[in-house]
Amino acid sequence: MSRFRQNYVTKPIHRWARGALPRLSQTESEALSAGEVWWDAELFSGNPDWSKLAAVKRPTLTKEEQAFLEGPCTELCEMIDDWAINHDRADLSPEVWQLLRDNGFFGMIIPQSHGGLGFSAFAHSEVVRYISTRSVAAAVTVMVPNSLGPGELLMQFGTDEQKQHWLPRLAGGRELPAFALTSAEAGSDASAMTDSGVVCRGTWNGQEVLGIRLNWAKRYITLSPVCTVLGLAFKLRDPEGLLGGEDDIGITCALVPTDLPGVETGRRHIPASTMFQNGPTEGHDVFIPLDHIIGGPDYAGRGWMMLMSALAAGRGISLPSLAAAAVALSAHTSGAYARVREQFGLPIGKFEGIQAPLGRLAAGSYELDAARRLTCAGLDEGRSLAVISAIMKLHGTTRMREALNHAMDIHSGKAVIDGPSNYLAPLYKAVPIGITVEGANIVTRNLIVFGQGAVRAHPHLLDEMRALEEEDEAKSLAAFDSHFWQHVGHSTKTFFRALGRAWTGGRAAPAPAAGDATWIYRQVSRWSAAYALTADVAFLTMGGDLKRKEMISARMGDVLSDLYILTAALKRWDDDGRPKADVPLLEHAAKSALTRIRRSMDEVIANFPARWAAVLLRIVTRPGGTSRGPDDHLTRTCADVLMTPSESRDRIIGRMFGGCERDGVRQLDDAFARVIAAEPIRKRLRDANMTREQAAEEGFISREEDAELEAMQAAVARVIAVDDFAPEDLAAYFPDYERPERQAPEAAE
Ligand SMILES: Cc1cc2nc3c(=O)[nH]c(=O)nc-3n(C[C@H](O)[C@H](O)[C@H](O)COP(=O)(O)OP(=O)(O)OC[C@H]3O[C@@H](n4cnc5c(N)ncnc54)[C@H](O)[C@@H]3O)c2cc1C
Repeated sequence: MSRFRQNYVTKPIHRWARGALPRLSQTESEALSAGEVWWDAELFSGNPDWSKLAAVKRPTLTKEEQAFLEGPCTELCEMIDDWAINHDRADLSPEVWQLLRDNGFFGMIIPQSHGGLGFSAFAHSEVVRYISTRSVAAAVTVMVPNSLGPGELLMQFGTDEQKQHWLPRLAGGRELPAFALTSAEAGSDASAMTDSGVVCRGTWNGQEVLGIRLNWAKRYITLSPVCTVLGLAFKLRDPEGLLGGEDDIGITCALVPTDLPGVETGRRHIPASTMFQNGPTEGHDVFIPLDHIIGGPDYAGRGWMMLMSALAAGRGISLPSLAAAAVALSAHTSGAYARVREQFGLPIGKFEGIQAPLGRLAAGSYELDAARRLTCAGLDEGRSLAVISAIMKLHGTTRMREALNHAMDIHSGKAVIDGPSNYLAPLYKAVPIGITVEGANIVTRNLIVFGQGAVRAHPHLLDEMRALEEEDEAKSLAAFDSHFWQHVGHSTKTFFRALGRAWTGGRAAPAPAAGDATWIYRQVSRWSAAYALTADVAFLTMGGDLKRKEMISARMGDVLSDLYILTAALKRWDDDGRPKADVPLLEHAAKSALTRIRRSMDEVIANFPARWAAVLLRIVTRPGGTSRGPDDHLTRTCADVLMTPSESRDRIIGRMFGGCERDGVRQLDDAFARVIAAEPIRKRLRDANMTREQAAEEGFISREEDAELEAMQAAVARVIAVDDFAPEDLAAYFPDYERPERQAPEAAE
């Protein structure tokens, strides 16, 4: 039977598929194969196994990690003067650099056996998140050596000798790394780089050795102006056949000490007024021995695979942690500000116009931080999460932009006026940096999340593609036959699942018994099945063309991302002991996500080139129903969470630097606490229709109560105030600034 099926049924399909599917280039194939899939694959299967999510260990900190946050991390944040970094020094202060080195901030991911801190992914993320609430420049400085770069590459691929030599130096900050991939011609398409290495003989430490002559011109490289070692990506050639193989070896990563003759670093870029060290670097005929290739000569030409693999881990931590910090800080400060700032005789947070963005901030922060935690938990299981890390980078930074827009709107003039006490403007300015780096968001959304997710997270697609790529015709057919028919079985089950779940409005979809959240689990199960079916129909009808249909791919990626982030919120709620008080946050997140999912699926189906497929999908997956987001009552409830101290509010904020005298956060916290504490007295005054002065004079309130109100008013006035500058101070920032001469009224006439 199986031979008959193979020869008469599978064979023509196999022949067609081999012709129709575009052959993958080596870089594409390596990018697709990098890293692993995890919970994303469950969501993609159309039938997520909820017990797997429940089994994921809740991320926690060890005593040492906790002590690090309370000790060196807090000390660092107190020492940082973010305004001075961005306006006076154009750099961190020497004391801050020293503190970073002395306390091992640059070696968080390096194991203790090599002199690093050996932190978990979660601890690493908490540190970046914490610092990000004080200074983006400092956070980026800490982030880079711990993310994609020499440290990560050495740990994954370095030889023992390289690890022994470099890791302790990197961990202790004796060596400062930068990672140089991007060049003028090669941005998103990094594989188009023209930076070159040629295998040749040269002199190293007085001896003639086999090595590489490098020439490069990179730009945008973080830490490049101050780094002592570059992790350099270049295209390696061996025209004289000195390595005994091909001329064109391919993308290779090597360690290049910056004190070698021919290396040029030091010039600076100014990235969106955020003065971390970033700049171009050039190399002219720089010679390195072959053992400077990361992983040694065996890894010559394997650079692309190494980069993709290292990216899968680092991308899940750095920017998502910074983004979660920005969203949490936006939620925290906007809630407090909306409570202390009054207009028309009321806290502005009492107006629905402010409650709408506040509600989104509360739920958004809860949800994004949940996704950060789940991702860290996955990374701490030792997984290298390719698709999830792309989702986290893309949606973390996109949501950071949305959150900061809300926070800026709520604060209005207070957030627009720049100065040391403006806690939002530095993050707002830095948003495009997060959007651009580690894979610009448009590329990540349009090409990576679904492009890679579909292939990696789908239960059968990658196996089918590998079978089609097999050179040996008979082997190719046999393997394809097995995977193809498993795929058909999967699709059939998915079809009936999607149909049954959609036509019962999700009621027939499986869910664990989760009290208030059971309906959300059901809806995720329902949409996961609809999604899996839509993906299968898309592969069937569009095949290789799907790669060019970026708009469809982007929306499909959005659905997978929303499913991932929403299930992370469910997991967090569960891990936290299912607190009743957090149910509105979870519901708001769920209703928003489900509305977006419905819309994206509608738009995908509406744009399906094969109309029969669109009609079929609409009938199976979308029987009626409208997209309704969170109702106004729910939004108001979520907004209230941010305006009233509670455990829920604390959970949204998480571990965050508590502010210092220089930034405005401490003043805001102080005013917020005083306004809350004084509320009963103020209510009595309101009920009696009295001003404070009248009430004090008539003895309606005690002297202590009057003093409490006075202190509260002073604290609020400090928050409402914004920075201003004397003309002579301005001249420090704008050297050509001339104080405008005030014209005498007669002269003006
Ligand atoms: C502050 C900063 C720090 C950085 N740090 C480093 C570093 O340390 N090391 C390093 O190597 N690099 C670094 N980079 C480089 C960064 O990774 C690149 O900027 C990024 O990859 C995008 O390249 P590009 O800016 O040249 O944009 P381009 O590639 O020119 O892209 C322009 C736009 O087109 C979109 N686009 C491109 N191709 C497609 C496509 N096929 N489909 C849809 N849209 C597409 C992009 O998404 C983007 O929106 C840094 C950049 C900045 C700004």
